[in-house]
Amino acid sequence: MLKRIRYCDECRCEREAVVKERNSTYTYRNEQFEIIEEYAECTECGNAVTDEELDNKTLKQVSDLYQIKHSVNPEMLKEIRKGYDLSQYLFAKLLNMGIATIKRYELGTSSPDTTQIGIYKLLKSNPKSIMQFFEQNKSNFEPDELKTVEKKLESFIDNDDIEDSSQRLLEKTYEPHNNTIETGGITFNYQKLFHMILFFSREHVLKTKLMKLLWYSDFLRYKRTQKPISGTPYWHLPYGPVPKKHDFVLGTMAGLDLISIREEENPEGYTMILIQAKKDFDPNIFDHADWDVLRYVEDYFKTYGSRTISDFAHEEEAWKQTRDEQIISYEYAESLRLN
Ligand SMILES: [Zn+2]
Repeated sequence: MLKRIRYCDECRCEREAVVKERNSTYTYRNEQFEIIEEYAECTECGNAVTDEELDNKTLKQVSDLYQIKHSVNPEMLKEIRKGYDLSQYLFAKLLNMGIATIKRYELGTSSPDTTQIGIYKLLKSNPKSIMQFFEQNKSNFEPDELKTVEKKLESFIDNDDIEDSSQRLLEKTYEPHNNTIETGGITFNYQKLFHMILFFSREHVLKTKLMKLLWYSDFLRYKRTQKPISGTPYWHLPYGPVPKKHDFVLGTMAGLDLISIREEENPEGYTMILIQAKKDFDPNIFDHADWDVLRYVEDYFKTYGSRTISDFAHEEEAWKQTRDEQIISYEYAESLRLN
């Protein structure tokens, strides 16, 4: 208990007072607010004594409540629900609130209490937080409703954790090569590699061709500026230079739903693997020199198929001087047949 000396009107002298809590109702700007307030009590007679500090605290508590309450309006509450493309009925079930309540809030015939305002504010500032309500309240839904809601909330599922661990695995895989000539002297940047792949596969691309486009981009950038784009280590495989453990890279991206990988048979009966981006690349990941290279490489090989680009790459010193699964040093960039 906090003790303090206060003047007691009852005892008509200074007394020791203790701080206690009680439920109170206050009217502020014509609205009533229920709060738990702190007040001081005389230890001799048990009467409440005036305490300016605690009074100010109470006033602040009430005015804060007023502010919070008026920081939301019916239009905004409706917007938040519409952000999820959900009906009032499904939204109510999702938040474990009554449908009549949601209707009244959106019509403005009643205001949410502070807990519900807190929920709305959370959803507004972090739309993905809807998933925690979904996890808590999914038993509210009938099977067909559940399907609808899952579909609507698909884009709010947080992939950050999965992305983090996949990214770490990939970084671990390339770590031994970091800051050596095998990454072009930098720390491998998985973001840049992912977005290079998203860029080249935005209108689908053959996997074998994609591998070469990546290699030429990193190596040409290195040839021009002594710095690669992504710092991916590439190694020698029969079809040409490819990112080390390239299937792991592509598998990781498919797992994160960034790309799709599908097989097709061409008229001659060969199986072709097509990579298609499922997300837009972020242009801001790349600087000017990166962009010059990416556009140049894409343009240069525009008419090349899997076979022709492999044949082209087989003429590179980088490939001729290395053997299977040997890392291709960025020093070979010097002899690249592109400029
Ligand atoms: Zn007293």
